[in-house]
Amino acid sequence: MSYTSVKGMDDLCPPESYRWAEIEKKAKAIFESFSFSPIVTPAVERTELFSRGIGRATDIVEKQMYTFLDKNGESLSLRPEGTAPVVRAYLEHQLYHPDPYQKFYYWGPMYRYERMQKGRYREFHQFGVEVFGSASYRIDAEIIFMMMHLYRELGVKKFEIQLNSLGCHECRPKYREQLLKELRGQKSALCADCQNRLEKNPLRTFDCKNEGCQKIAQTTLPRMVDHLCEPCKAHFEGVKTALNQLNTPFILNPNIVRGLDYYVRTTFEIVSGDLGAQNALGGGGRYDGLVKELGGKDTPAFGYAGGIERLLLVLENETQPKYGVNVFVAALGPKAQAFSYGLIHKLRLKGIKCEIDYDDSSLKAQMKKADRMNSQCVLIIGEDEMNKGEAILRNMSTKEQKTIPFGEILDEFKKKS
Ligand SMILES: [Zn+2]
Ligand SMILES: [Zn+2]
Repeated sequence: MSYTSVKGMDDLCPPESYRWAEIEKKAKAIFESFSFSPIVTPAVERTELFSRGIGRATDIVEKQMYTFLDKNGESLSLRPEGTAPVVRAYLEHQLYHPDPYQKFYYWGPMYRYERMQKGRYREFHQFGVEVFGSASYRIDAEIIFMMMHLYRELGVKKFEIQLNSLGCHECRPKYREQLLKELRGQKSALCADCQNRLEKNPLRTFDCKNEGCQKIAQTTLPRMVDHLCEPCKAHFEGVKTALNQLNTPFILNPNIVRGLDYYVRTTFEIVSGDLGAQNALGGGGRYDGLVKELGGKDTPAFGYAGGIERLLLVLENETQPKYGVNVFVAALGPKAQAFSYGLIHKLRLKGIKCEIDYDDSSLKAQMKKADRMNSQCVLIIGEDEMNKGEAILRNMSTKEQKTIPFGEILDEFKKKS
């Protein structure tokens, strides 16, 4: 019997896993420099949290959740996304007290039972940020700016920020009526899906993949952005002005819609030029109604979630993962081995990545090993070197060699790291 990982749930092995570690390190550093605090929530929640927080009638809740009864008969689900759990934690631990303005970032696995395709997994990973307690358009713009900064820092070359406004509880119902009127008139030209959900969710025609529907959406349907109430219009103008101030290029895309009522005003997606159909690196926006929906006070909120597997796919084409050790110590003979064993641990305590051979291998075999480990240099210490009190340092890319006295080895590597 041999074992493989579960379909749609992949291992990530070196060297690709180094890329992963680098994304994590850079993302967390950037989130912290924008004063977000880390928050960690469980991978399992009560199913009810997601049916209320994402919506019972969504594909995610209806078809894609891993839901099961635990031994107590309670319905639990693996989290399909990260926002509802963060809102739950915000309320459960009264993190809004005394100041509702709070900023969190998270990073972790999410689960959806999806049809398999490139860049789509059943266990996938997301990083996300949530800001609670401010309705300011400046928050919207700075999160978009922060994400642009992150993708640039990671080396994503081609991506686009697509922006839309979804209006609010004042202007959206009126717009919806107009949209419905228009759609009813063209019902026979819509695909079966759009016809079925027309009365319940007319907005979905905007993100329908059917070509006929796309054409109708782009040419004849009224657009939310043209029907915003005055406060929504001012908010949207504010976001655009702030993005310009922060040198953040964006394009307007009236086709970005969200099916749920608590999504309001700003919504955006970051789209890669390098991915096929699954081209969104992530999406976000304002969700002023969700905290209340989940039992809290009316609290404005804004968030973004980005997929890490998608990001890895894009980066595969654009950068090499950085990995390897700083120095491999090739020791020959028992005296040199004992000395080197002590030496690598002094180096490791200084944060210098080093390795050694444990098998009494020949110099040639040890050099090969160093090469496989992608070592920047090799420190060669044999009987002769032990007697002289100095080591041979070989640079693995230039092949240059020099000798350094034992007493100067630590300083030599401290300079480089
Ligand atoms: Zn409005
Ligand atoms: Zn359609």
